Amino acid sequence: MPSPAPLRLRLDGAALVDNWRALDRLSGSAICGAAVKADGYGIGAREAVERLAGAGCRDFFVATWGEAAELAPWYAALSLSVFHGVREGDMAAALAGPARPCLCTREQVRRWRDAGGGVCDAMVDTGMNRLGLAVEDVRAGLLDGLAIDTLMSHLACSDESGNPKNAAQREAFASLVGRTLAKRLSLANSAGIALGPDYAFDLTRPGLSLYGGVQVEALAPHIRQVAHLEAEIIQRRRVEPGDTVGYNATFTASAPIELAILNIGYADGYARGFSGRGRAFAEGAELPVVGRVSMDLVAIAVDAAPRLAEGDWVELDFDLPAASAQSGIAQYELLTGLGDRYQRVWK
Ligand SMILES: *Cc1c(COP(=O)(O)O)cnc(C)c1O
Repeated sequence: MPSPAPLRLRLDGAALVDNWRALDRLSGSAICGAAVKADGYGIGAREAVERLAGAGCRDFFVATWGEAAELAPWYAALSLSVFHGVREGDMAAALAGPARPCLCTREQVRRWRDAGGGVCDAMVDTGMNRLGLAVEDVRAGLLDGLAIDTLMSHLACSDESGNPKNAAQREAFASLVGRTLAKRLSLANSAGIALGPDYAFDLTRPGLSLYGGVQVEALAPHIRQVAHLEAEIIQRRRVEPGDTVGYNATFTASAPIELAILNIGYADGYARGFSGRGRAFAEGAELPVVGRVSMDLVAIAVDAAPRLAEGDWVELDFDLPAASAQSGIAQYELLTGLGDRYQRVWK
């Protein structure tokens, strides 16, 4: 038996499912899918797909064929789309199905046609200038005759509801209604769902908010935290006035303080941005991070939790909007930066 890990990621499967149900409701008459790229934004794609499929989610999205293969035993009865399309080396996997490439360059369209590929998806660029086919090319017939399941585009500024770019992208996308054989159109990510029914089309593709991320106020009442960070106390110690704590002695005690040293650090995605700004919870108290976050260790002040001792566990505040404000790191990066030293415990 290996030693138990001194840090845990407690994953709330009920919150994940409830978040999807809320986003599904907010998607109105559109169907709600799930982006599970980057290993389900770091929490575990297989575990996420299993739970979301159990709740009725049928449409999943990954970035690459490697990610699709990871889900292979699961997706046979589901719909899985690969955002980055097909490179030459992906063709064998793509033609074997059942995952569909989301064609996003003229070269990919040619490759798929030449191979007599079957049902596919396609991505149109409506102004983000990241991946996607030009609207004019689609209008001119680039996709004619292709058996497209879902025609997609992606919003660049969905988390800024007042940004005129949203309406411009929506208009460009709507101009393609009926122009291809696509069975479904899809535009909105998590924050895009909050832009309202005009943005929902037939299928929505949330990622971040499934996992507890909230970028727009309108979603806040509907979304719950999914990933909870817990770390074990390796040592409790007292520091005296004038003592310093951690690398570069950035914190100097002005009064006696009780510290707990936790087994977690920036190698676990608890970034240096939490230095002196993060907080933990135990015994009903808020316990501030003291000094610099190290690679594997963090110090917290535990005067407010007198019974906490070596071997006890504390939860670090990883509610994504709050944790992002504390660390200055985007919610997406916080999630996808979680390392692999955690024991992952689903409930
Ligand atoms: C990542 C991604 C999504 C999901 O976006 P969120 O902001 O996480 O909801 C949807 N569509 C595409 C094309 C993406 O790359």
